[in-house]
Amino acid sequence: MPIESIALQVVTPDRRVVEESVEEVQVPGDQGYLGVLPGHAPLMTELGAGMLSYRKGATWYYLTALRGFAEVLADRVTVLAERAERAEEIDLGRAEKAAARARERLGRLQDPEVDWARAQAALERAMVRVQVAAKAGSALTEGHRPEI
Ligand code: ATP
Repeated sequence: MPIESIALQVVTPDRRVVEESVEEVQVPGDQGYLGVLPGHAPLMTELGAGMLSYRKGATWYYLTALRGFAEVLADRVTVLAERAERAEEIDLGRAEKAAARARERLGRLQDPEVDWARAQAALERAMVRVQVAAKAGSALTEGHRPEI
């Protein structure tokens, strides 16, 4: 029998963010986005900081997936993310403030107090959150791939 769905689980150290039977997943791998349909070849990948999207029927859903690992099997995708938030959960104002704070820190080029890598990671998280928050409430119909 052909495999027609994927058991998607997205978990963080704190909670289970998604547990759904879905038809398609796009995973933000550290080398770029990976499209997964039922029956995909098994693989493991590190996650970058990006948008994870999945399709259930004709509707796409979006969340942040910020660092971690994903395992892809023919009928299962398991994502262990350091942080993950559904689009609807994201506080846009908070993310915009975090981005502004990080940009301000990154602008202080001569300041030895600034932890450059930490500020860059914070900016990256905030920018992904802003991008994913914009998807809240948007249901795309089948045939339209999510814009990444
Ligand atoms: P901030 O400076 O606003 O705390 P941050 O990137 O440092 O942002 P994290 O350490 O990544 O925050 O996250 C801490 C917790 O807060 C995590 O559980 C994360 O999911 C949640 N979180 C962070 N920013 C947001 C946001 N804008 N909306 C909703 N939840 C958020």
